[in-house]
Amino acid sequence: MANVNKRALGLGMQRSVIRELFEFGKKRIAEVGEENVFDFSIGNPSVPAPEVVGETAVRLLKEMDPVLLHGYTSAPGDSMVREQIAESIRTRFGYAARPQSLYMTAGAAGALCGCLNGLLEAGEEVIVFAPFFPEYRVFIEGAGGVMKLIPADTESFQIDFERFEEMLGPNTKAVLINSPNNPSGAVYSEETIRRLAAILKERSGQYGHVIYLITDEPYREIAFSGVTVPFVPKYYPNTLVCYSWSKSLSLPGERMGYVLVAEEMEEREEVFAAVAGASRSLGYVSAPSLFQRVCAICADNTSDISVYETNRNILVKGLREIGFSVVEPQGTFYMFPRTLIGDDAAFCEKAKDFNLLIVPGSGFGCPGHTRISYCVPTERAERSLEAFAKLADFYR
Ligand code: PLP
Repeated sequence: MANVNKRALGLGMQRSVIRELFEFGKKRIAEVGEENVFDFSIGNPSVPAPEVVGETAVRLLKEMDPVLLHGYTSAPGDSMVREQIAESIRTRFGYAARPQSLYMTAGAAGALCGCLNGLLEAGEEVIVFAPFFPEYRVFIEGAGGVMKLIPADTESFQIDFERFEEMLGPNTKAVLINSPNNPSGAVYSEETIRRLAAILKERSGQYGHVIYLITDEPYREIAFSGVTVPFVPKYYPNTLVCYSWSKSLSLPGERMGYVLVAEEMEEREEVFAAVAGASRSLGYVSAPSLFQRVCAICADNTSDISVYETNRNILVKGLREIGFSVVEPQGTFYMFPRTLIGDDAAFCEKAKDFNLLIVPGSGFGCPGHTRISYCVPTERAERSLEAFAKLADFYR
């Protein structure tokens, strides 16, 4: 065996269920045609970035001094970029964000790693709620922390506060939430955030140290009609927001996001310095210059995300008629129905016979479910129902 870091080797060699589905999908497309393969496996936005993104990039490339445009920005990001984003946060959320509280990162992933490495000492615990984005475990353990998982409330995919209060303890350093949620599509209500904040405040006092709230928000803008996503720093001062434009502007490949350290945080400047220091230590300084500027200028825009709500409506109704039990998503482009048998891996394997590519829930910490990523053309979502009906027939 190579003389390398064992954990890194293990991660690098790991089979990825989603990648395998992707490879399978390519093979099936060659056999039956793309229109007959229902690939619900991956969370790549299906709508293009709004035109203003391309126009802005082209304008900057034509008009800006290339030495400046392609040069390093300062480590936390260009100062004008941070001011523009702070202004966007101020006007959209009524929250007095300042540029010096923002650290530009390579996507939400870079933001999460900066926060976790900045906050955690070895062995400290981070509480996560199932179902959860599987990379959380990788990021938390990579920062030397221990992930404590709260089982899902599968009736609503909201927080199970009883279990949460049992799990909180003196070794809890941070709580990591993700709303709108991948994979359930749940959005935490204002009441939920208030209750969470009250518990964290009380326990921080009891244990004599701050418990940080990290809120991972790449789907912030993808909330459906009538649903509001609370702006968490307004409710809990010791909050770190991890944001990205991967989904709202359909720019996952451009790797652009930020950390916002809440303005009222205790010892805010030191916490910001720790996030900056961790990002430095990970090699994440001076996020890509062109797209820092593009995202800042386009920060108040989104792609045409209406297709996701259309697809949600079609699939929730259609799947329920077929006999699936599904909690209606309030945002994102994921849903997380119960599988028709307990063994979600076997169920998703069988689904492949009907050209349905769906991901087992076990990987998200919630067995007996499957994730459907409905960032697909609406016509494909509609036609997939026939395949889901055949899959259900197989189990009848
Ligand atoms: N957090 C969640 C919940 C996600 O679903 C994703 C990507 O799918 C990320 C973080 C990573 O986002 P990014 O691509 O901006 O790094």
